[in-house]
Amino acid sequence: MTLTVLINAGPWLPVPPAGYGGIENVVATLVPELRRLGVRVVLASVDSSTLPCDERISVFADGQFAALQRPYNQVSGIAQAHLAGVVRELRGRDDIDLVHDHVEAVGLATLAALGPDAPPVLHTLHWDLAKHPELYGGLDGGRRVRVNGVSAAQLARAPQALRDHSVGHVHLATPLAVDPHRRPPVAQGGYALVLGRINPGKGQDVAVRLARRVGFPLVLAGPVGPYHRPADLAAAGAPARQNPDVRFFHDEVAPHLDGDRVRWIGTVAGRDRDDLLAAARATLFPLRWEEPGGTAVVESLALGTPVVATARGCLPELVEHGRTGLLTDDEQELGDLVLAADLLEPDECRREAAARFTPAVMARRYLALYDRVRRLGSAA
Ligand code: UDP
Repeated sequence: MTLTVLINAGPWLPVPPAGYGGIENVVATLVPELRRLGVRVVLASVDSSTLPCDERISVFADGQFAALQRPYNQVSGIAQAHLAGVVRELRGRDDIDLVHDHVEAVGLATLAALGPDAPPVLHTLHWDLAKHPELYGGLDGGRRVRVNGVSAAQLARAPQALRDHSVGHVHLATPLAVDPHRRPPVAQGGYALVLGRINPGKGQDVAVRLARRVGFPLVLAGPVGPYHRPADLAAAGAPARQNPDVRFFHDEVAPHLDGDRVRWIGTVAGRDRDDLLAAARATLFPLRWEEPGGTAVVESLALGTPVVATARGCLPELVEHGRTGLLTDDEQELGDLVLAADLLEPDECRREAAARFTPAVMARRYLALYDRVRRLGSAA
């Protein structure tokens, strides 16, 4: 019998996202592969999502990202309105076998309280939750809700209430890892790349200082808060500083940019993003937080670009030191490692991604977890 799964991608961005988008990229990678494996997918997202699925439900016309503050649940009014729409849908029908939820925290208490006839829920953790045990209080007693991590390191740091409900971890994936040799080669650019939200946890302040000191060209790509282009951020003026990531950028990053060899180019998307990644000598992750999943890490490997990073969070699980990247506990060493990364073999990176980080590998792991969660659900 066909398995029907409601995948809740949340109200923040369309799926697939136009550029930056962590959770939404994960869902955009997973859904086509699940459908290829015969799963019927009901996607709960926003109206502007274009990802093919079997059915779509939404509360908001477009993504609410501009109102978002981290962690995701802090704009709880928006998340709750979206969740209420999902719950209404679940109450009105009986053909959904499982909910695969990607909305942080706020939804779980609601889903856990749905009652005995509701489908079981698998909730994927996307954030580092060590400091936020309160977000998951609603899980107590919610035996039909199980959680999975996106790395073993993330799960190990999660609050006990979550680990009690854990069914394991599934690493992130990228379509770029499928047949990694099909892209035309791009000329090497000689620069290091930091790809991601501009945020203290991602460490762009460390990267710009190292680039200036060691003397390698550096490109920072990614949004600053809700601002995707340097011109938009400049036009927003002083009020934009209410956003902590904007303050971080102005105070800690911008003073070290020179507009030429060390620069911020805003959000990159699609083919431009892939070319920028493929032409980098290394992607740099000077992390100040325990990176939970690291989509940008697996994308880099898939395109043959070695990863240079602090050995935090999921990095040691995804990157093999000396083969697909260089890891260190000492952030001062990262600059030298960027230069040393030239010695690593791009094909080793591509091979690793093709073996471990394809959508097919991820989807098969999730199918196994769906099975497990359904069996646990009926035993509860
Ligand atoms: N990304 C992008 N353009 C940018 C910055 C990021 O397309 O300018 C993508 C990046 O390639 C990755 C995702 O956004 O697919 C970020 O996910 P990741 O897990 O690396 O970071 P986080 O979810 O913590 O923001």
